[in-house]
Amino acid sequence: MSLKSYSDSVSKVWPLFTNIDVDYGEGIFLYDRKGKKYIDFTSGIGVTNTGHCHPRVVNAIKKQSEKLLHGQTTILYNSMIDELASSIKKILPDELNCMFFSNSGSEAVESAIKLVRHATGKPNIICFQGGYHGRSIGALSLTTAKSVYRSGYQPLMSGVFVSPHPYFKQHSNENSEQRVKHCLDELEHILNTQTSPEETAAMIIEPILGEGGYVVPPKSFIQGIRNICDKYNILLIFDEIQTGFGRTGKYFAFEHFKVKPDILVIAKGIASGLPLSGIVANKKLMDKWVTGSHGGTYAPNPLSIAAAVETIKVLEEEKLVHNSEDIGNYLLDKLQNIKNKHPNVIDVRGKGLMIGCELIEEDGQSGTYIAEKVRKNCLSKGLILLTCGPYNQVIRWIPPLTTKKSDIDRSLKIFEIALKQSLGR
Ligand code: PMP
Repeated sequence: MSLKSYSDSVSKVWPLFTNIDVDYGEGIFLYDRKGKKYIDFTSGIGVTNTGHCHPRVVNAIKKQSEKLLHGQTTILYNSMIDELASSIKKILPDELNCMFFSNSGSEAVESAIKLVRHATGKPNIICFQGGYHGRSIGALSLTTAKSVYRSGYQPLMSGVFVSPHPYFKQHSNENSEQRVKHCLDELEHILNTQTSPEETAAMIIEPILGEGGYVVPPKSFIQGIRNICDKYNILLIFDEIQTGFGRTGKYFAFEHFKVKPDILVIAKGIASGLPLSGIVANKKLMDKWVTGSHGGTYAPNPLSIAAAVETIKVLEEEKLVHNSEDIGNYLLDKLQNIKNKHPNVIDVRGKGLMIGCELIEEDGQSGTYIAEKVRKNCLSKGLILLTCGPYNQVIRWIPPLTTKKSDIDRSLKIFEIALKQSLGR
C-alpha cells in the first residue's frame, strides 16, 4: 500500500501528523523506510521512557508471545498480574496497594470516575483548568486543555465542575503565592456553591500539566488541594499518565509535592509502548467496587504485562529515574541559556525530562506560529519535537530517559538553528 493511499484511507484528525513512514525504532532514534534517521524527543508522547525497542523489553515480549497472547482475565487467574502489581507496589507508598488494569489512559480515567462514584455514592467531580484526561466522553468531560477537544461533543458527562489553576491567572497582578491562595479560595467556593461536599466524590488533577502546557504548579497549590479534600472528605485523583514512571525525575510526580493521592492513574511509560494502563488505590477503597460492576475483555494483556515488568526492572537497574533528573537539569540549563539569547523564548520550565519551552510572537501574542515553524524546521533536520499548551505555543521536550548529554547537545544545536530560521535571523 502506498503512503498516499494509506493516508487517504485514514482520517486525518491529528494536527501534528507528519508523513514520516516509520519503519523501526532503536533507543532515541526512529528510522523511516528510506533509512532516514530521526531523533525522537517525543518518546511517542511520553510512552517509550526506556527508548524505542529496548532489547530487554523486546526479549520479554518475544518470550511471552510464544506462551499466551490473550489472558482472558475476566475468567482466568494469572499470576503474572500479581507479579506486575508487586513491581508497581515497590515504587509506590504502602497505602497505594491495589490495582485495576486497562489498556489506554482514557480507559483508566473512566475507571477512576466510576470507582469514585461507586465507592462514595456521590455524583460530582471537580477538575482543573488546563487539564487533559483523555477523549472518551467521561475523560473528555474532565479535559479542558483546549477547546478543540470538546467542541462538537456536547452534551458531555454531567456533574463536572472546573476550578482555576494558578498558571492561567498570570495576567493578574498577584504574586505566585497570592495566585495560589486565590485559586484555592475559588476551589473551596465552587465546592460549597456550585456543588457541595456531600455531592462531590473526587477532585482530579495532573500534578504537572501535560497537554495544558508543561506547567509545574507551586507546591502549595497541590498541597492546598489535598488539604481541602481532607477537610471535606473528598477523594483526590492524580492523573500521572504522562508524568509517571520516571518521566519527571521521580518515579511519580506527586513525590515532588510531598502529597499522596487516594487514586493514582497510570499508563504511557509503564510498558515501553505496549498498551497498558490502570488505577492504583487503597484496597479498602477498591473493595467498595462490587464484583462484576466494571471491567473489559482485554486488559491486562500478557504481552503488555511482560513488557511492564521488564520496563520497571530496566528503569531501576539502569538508574533511568536518576538519569531523567540529571539529564533534565542539564537540558533545562541549556534551554535557559537559549532563552537568555532569544526574547521570543519567554519561559523554560519543567521537571526531569518533561520540559516546556514557551514562545511568543514579536507582537507579544502567543507563539503559536513560531512554535509550529520551529517544530517543522526541527523535523526537517531530523529532530522530532511536539508542541502543547492551549495555543500550541509551547515546544515540549520529552526525550527517552536513556538520553545522554551528547544527545541533548546534538538536538539543541538543531533546535537553535531551527529557532533562528523560524525567527528569520
Ligand atoms: N491523561 C493524561 C495526563 C495524558 O497525557 C493522556 C494522553 N496524552 C491521557 C490522559 C489519555 O491517554 P490515552 O491517549 O492513552 O487515552
